[in-house]
Parts: sequence; structure tokens; C-alpha cells
Amino acid sequence: MRAVAWFLVLAAGCVSGSPGGVQKRWRGQPANAGASRAEAVAVAVPQPPTWRAIGKSVEGRPLRVLRLGHGPRKALWVGGIHGDEREGAIATAELPAAFLATPGAVDKVTLTILEDANPDGSVAGTRANRNGVDLNRNYPAKNYLPGQGRGDKPLDQPEAKALHDLVLAVRPDVMVVAHAWRGDTFINFDGPAERLAERFGRASGLRVKPSDKIAPTPGSLGSWVGHTLRWPILTLEYLRGSGQQENWQKTKAAILAVLVGD
Ligand SMILES: [Zn+2]
Repeated sequence: MRAVAWFLVLAAGCVSGSPGGVQKRWRGQPANAGASRAEAVAVAVPQPPTWRAIGKSVEGRPLRVLRLGHGPRKALWVGGIHGDEREGAIATAELPAAFLATPGAVDKVTLTILEDANPDGSVAGTRANRNGVDLNRNYPAKNYLPGQGRGDKPLDQPEAKALHDLVLAVRPDVMVVAHAWRGDTFINFDGPAERLAERFGRASGLRVKPSDKIAPTPGSLGSWVGHTLRWPILTLEYLRGSGQQENWQKTKAAILAVLVGD
């Protein structure tokens, strides 16, 4: 639009003014306009997203995080915390491009993606981390229970501590954690996340299941974030053993809907 306007000014100068008048326009305004266009182009060139490590696993693997967008809504996606539940891994890999392709998303939302909260477990194919602790029982929720497989105290596992610090730094308006469930698929929520869960259910066809309809999960992320902090958190249970690409296609719209919001 601006380029068209300048063209009209120049054209008017050419047909109506003296050679001096035309010269004036050429020396001044068009040059400035060119510079501002060049600056605008330089600012608009997107930088490739960069993964950074927020900590390390027991075996020294990086806990990788990607931050996209710059909007006021804070969203946090966790690609997995149980190493034998990798059904959401492709969704995690596809999410950055899908988010960037969603109109208006980058201005509305700052999205933080934690690729995998339990990389040692993912490599070994175990639910727990290298120390045999279920990281989803190692959070400082009111219902935390020390003991076998849950750690001696909250956050005594480096992976749990790194994600804990990330949650507090992000202060998410919505947080989604990918899991898998044997023989079923549903969206579970803790804390003030019922509306988000219902929205997810509508967009994906997944059934909504509140936490109190599931066996107690002392020291889980849902207990800590949803009930202790009172922040909204969704637990996405893909069908155990199901196809990852199929899962992404089925839940893509729902994931984007809850992360990007209204
Ligand atoms: Zn799980």
C-alpha cells in the first residue's frame, strides 16, 4: 500500500512539476521510504527456532526447551514424562511448525515446549527415570508421599527439579502433558482446567475425565500444578501403542485450540 502511494506521488511530480521539483522528490522522500522498507524486511525475517537445555537427566542427557511466539498468553507443552509412553513424540515434533502456521498465534501466545521430561526413560523404554523414580510422583504437591519409586523427598530428581523451575518461570495459563494409557484414550485435567478440557474434547473427540475419577496420583504434576498451585493443567492420554502420526492428526486442532485460546 505504501509502495503504491509513493508511486502516485512520484508520478504526480513527473507530469506536473518543473525538473527541479521532480528532483526534490527523488532526493528526499523516496530514499527514506526505501530505507524504511529495507529495515522492515530485516525485522520480518524469522529466526530459526533454537532449542536450549534447561538441565540434564541423571545420565546427562539435555532437557531441551523451545520457545515460540511473544504473546501475553503463556502456554507450556510437555512432550512426555513417562519413558515408555512415547505416543505423543511426533505431536511434539510437529507442534512448532503447526503453531507458527496458526494465524495470529505468535502475537497472542508465548509457547514453551519441553521435548521430553524423561529422556533417560525414553531411551531405556522405562516409565521411571534412571534412578527408578516415577518423575510424575516427585513434585511438591500437598499429597506427595515419599517412598519406593517416588523419591525420598519432592524434587530430589534432576529432571523433576528442572521442569518444576520451568513451570514457575513460565507461569502457564495452560499446560498440557502428553502420556499414554493402556486400552483407553482421554483428556484428563487438574485444577481450573475443566473448560479447557471440554474444549479439547470437542475438538478431538476424546472423552473428558476429571482426576478424581482416576486412581490417586500423589506428587504428580497434575496434583502440584492443578491442586497446589491452582493453575490449569491437562493430561493428554493417547492410546498406548497407537500410531503417533495418527495421534497427531486426531488431536492437532484440539492441541492448538487450547494452547492458542480464544
Ligand atoms: Zn503416563
